Amino acid sequence: MKVDLHTHTTASDGSLSPKDLLASAIENEIALLAITDHDTVAGVRSLLLDSSGHDLESTGIKVLAGVEISTQWKGSDIHIVGLNIDLENEELNGSLRNQAALRLRRAKQIALKLEKYGMEKVYERVLEIAGGENIGRPHFAQYLIEQNKVKDFKQAFSQYLAQGKKAYVKTEWPDIADAISWIKAAGGLAVLAHPARYKLTASKTRVLVGYFAENGGSALEFNGPSSKSEKDKLLLALCDQHKLAVSLGSDFHHKESKWQRLGFTIPLPDNYQGVWELFCES
Ligand code: AMP
Ligand code: MN
Ligand code: MN
Ligand code: MN
Repeated sequence: MKVDLHTHTTASDGSLSPKDLLASAIENEIALLAITDHDTVAGVRSLLLDSSGHDLESTGIKVLAGVEISTQWKGSDIHIVGLNIDLENEELNGSLRNQAALRLRRAKQIALKLEKYGMEKVYERVLEIAGGENIGRPHFAQYLIEQNKVKDFKQAFSQYLAQGKKAYVKTEWPDIADAISWIKAAGGLAVLAHPARYKLTASKTRVLVGYFAENGGSALEFNGPSSKSEKDKLLLALCDQHKLAVSLGSDFHHKESKWQRLGFTIPLPDNYQGVWELFCES
């Protein structure tokens, strides 16, 4: 069964609308798709609830409500994916409103920093690029490219947006444990998003996974085959040690990306439990 449990839409920094993402997932023969926008469920909500879901049934694909929550841990930005969540849960929705406020405040601060470098009306333009108030750093990257300040996304991050660079703003994101508890309150399972991608040493990765597991996390996420296999080996050993399941997600944002293609993940390793088996049981 082909699954993709980490994807973005225009509700955050993805370029496909939820409907177009769904069409693309069907084309790619994905059987189980989770939409996991940064700190919002607006995209998946529009697909599952507002269109009352009936076209979905005839397509044969199962769409799960998900979210990717921004957190911080020992000075690093860590992302926690929530899968199979109840979209009506007040505790989760209230927390996501707080996340949205933090994001908006950060966006205004980033805009002010860029204006110090002579750019004008940054916030207004980025708001247009984002198509709403859920502004992420990729929208600023797009702005910087548009203004010919950088040549591509990579340069936008390495010169302006990445941690410690010219327009980086530190955000007081919640603790990992809080994000896990909101997800569980909404009946979902918490996944540590792309653990191979954080710039952490092996020993710090062990501590991170231990903290995630102790606080009720259910699975570690594995991405495309391009991910570093040494890191993957360590992460599989940590799944065994902490009795965590495996989640598979591409972290799809847009069709142009070579490595984050829809459904592009490693296969489920032998003798490991897929996180989807946990909620398909219940
Ligand atoms: P934010 O959620 O606003 O902090 O932005 C983080 C998002 O920026 C990630 O989900 C990626 O989509 C993107 N991103 C982070 N680092 C880079 C990078 N070095 N190059 C391109 N995109 C990046
Ligand atoms: Mn993103
Ligand atoms: Mn992420
Ligand atoms: Mn993501």
